[in-house]
Amino acid sequence: MKKFPIPAEERQKSLDALPYLESLPGEKLDTAFEKAHDAIFSEFDCLSCANCCKTASPIIEQEDMDGMARALNISRSVLITTYLTMDEDGDFVFKSTPCPMLQEDNRCKIYASRPEACRDYPHSRRKNMHAVLDLIEPNSAICPALNQIIQIIVES
Ligand code: SF4
Ligand code: SF4
Repeated sequence: MKKFPIPAEERQKSLDALPYLESLPGEKLDTAFEKAHDAIFSEFDCLSCANCCKTASPIIEQEDMDGMARALNISRSVLITTYLTMDEDGDFVFKSTPCPMLQEDNRCKIYASRPEACRDYPHSRRKNMHAVLDLIEPNSAICPALNQIIQIIVES
């Protein structure tokens, strides 16, 4: 399965932008991310990428599990024993990457019931973006759209 390489210089630009993003007032930061996120994702085709599903696991909350199990037509306990493990922080994550729900065509087998963390990824359209700026460091290595979003903000 092809992965989407992130050029090192592209990621570095996102990391270099962090002090500027941190300096923006909360409401201004949220608005800037919202506008840039909408502009990028109106054009970006995630099905041509799926790098998040190929290289990282979402945190799977208790609230996600019943819907996931239903979508797979298995019990919650079988979902946990078959697909999930607990990481060093005590969070449930998928046992393997690429995600076992990712199909050959980059579609998610449980798309309508995917975990909340998948729905929100790359966490660039939220209230209080200040609270998630620390996620830019890991996610700038995974998500090409996130790097483009940050560049739009810096250049605007
Ligand atoms: S959210 Fe980012 S990493 Fe995931 S498929 Fe879309 S562009 Fe790729
Ligand atoms: S559950 Fe679906 S959206 Fe979430 S990582 Fe797996 S394939 Fe991607």
